[in-house]
Amino acid sequence: MELRRNPTRAVKIGTSTIGAGHPIAVQSMTATHTQDIDATVGQIEALYKAGADVIRVAVDSTKDAAALAEIRRQTKANLAVDLQENYRLAEVVAPFVDKIRYNPGHLYHHEREKPWQEKVQYLARIAADNDCAMRVGVNCGSVDPAKKEKYDAADSITPMLESAWEHCDFLDSLGFSRYCVSMKDSDPQKVIEGNRRFAEKRPDVPLHLGVTEAGMPPDGIIKTRIAFEQLISQGIGDTIRVSLTVPNSRKPEEIEAGRKILEDIAAGRVRSFVDYGLQTLNIISCPSCSRVENEAFIELAQQVKEMTSYAKDHAVTIAVMGCRVNGPGETDDADLGLWCGPNFVNLKKGPAELGAFPYDAILPRLKEELDIVIAAKSAR
Ligand code: SF4
Repeated sequence: MELRRNPTRAVKIGTSTIGAGHPIAVQSMTATHTQDIDATVGQIEALYKAGADVIRVAVDSTKDAAALAEIRRQTKANLAVDLQENYRLAEVVAPFVDKIRYNPGHLYHHEREKPWQEKVQYLARIAADNDCAMRVGVNCGSVDPAKKEKYDAADSITPMLESAWEHCDFLDSLGFSRYCVSMKDSDPQKVIEGNRRFAEKRPDVPLHLGVTEAGMPPDGIIKTRIAFEQLISQGIGDTIRVSLTVPNSRKPEEIEAGRKILEDIAAGRVRSFVDYGLQTLNIISCPSCSRVENEAFIELAQQVKEMTSYAKDHAVTIAVMGCRVNGPGETDDADLGLWCGPNFVNLKKGPAELGAFPYDAILPRLKEELDIVIAAKSAR
């Protein structure tokens, strides 16, 4: 299906461009010691081969910065530097990278007497002079203390938003528009809310989506997937990273997981209830996993698509889920929901359960209910 996208501006990062309807870019970050040049180049090349559009490398010392110059020489990948607390390293590394990421909450650690505006002005100038994009990377674990103290401790999202919006306004006032923003948290629900609220106010700014400390696969992928499904289906997000806790040799799995999630969202294979905002038939079916209770689920999902094609012009959502773990909860918001057990398929209309039916009896029963739903909607 054609996913709607927010009207973000284009931001060029080396050979890749995010925003303005460009394909959603998939990123990763090295986990090696930056000064271990062989290991870092090895990991960058592995990520690049796996299809990474941009690869981020952390730099926190002049030795790291010197290593990055050599790393640049050895790879063609688009590189982003993650400036940690020492923002002044930007001028040393900018000639070797395509994007500079800074964290507004980290600008307080060095040169405390200097206003943050002066530091951002410096970063924007360095980026512009070196043909670099920027990312304003707001993170739940290191929010600008001045923003934090204005709000109740229970509200962690508003200070992050205020910080992000403030930096966008300031960069705009400098005439620097080649930037994107990220609002990362370890809680997928906060990632969803934060990015939604950000995009409502600034639909023009490209967003980099990610769930921090997502953990090991498969749980880390599932957490991330839920946040991405809800955001990308609403047109939010121009680049993504799936952060996984995996050994260095398995880092390319972040790229594979990211691409798979994007493909699945575009095909309606989603784990959570997703409203794509369509005025036509919306069939979502989970991507399936080891919990699938009967292999017949895959075939059933296909049969549901075929059987319901006559209703393609009606705004009806049908959710088809592979197991009893997620199925009951994730079908609640659909007009009609099915989830599979070992021998029966459960059917629901909205939150009301209609019963469990053998695999060979479910399609005619679903059609009956679909006709009723269409008639009720048409009568409104
Ligand atoms: S609904 Fe069940 S089978 Fe489908 S992806 Fe989710 S957990 Fe796996």
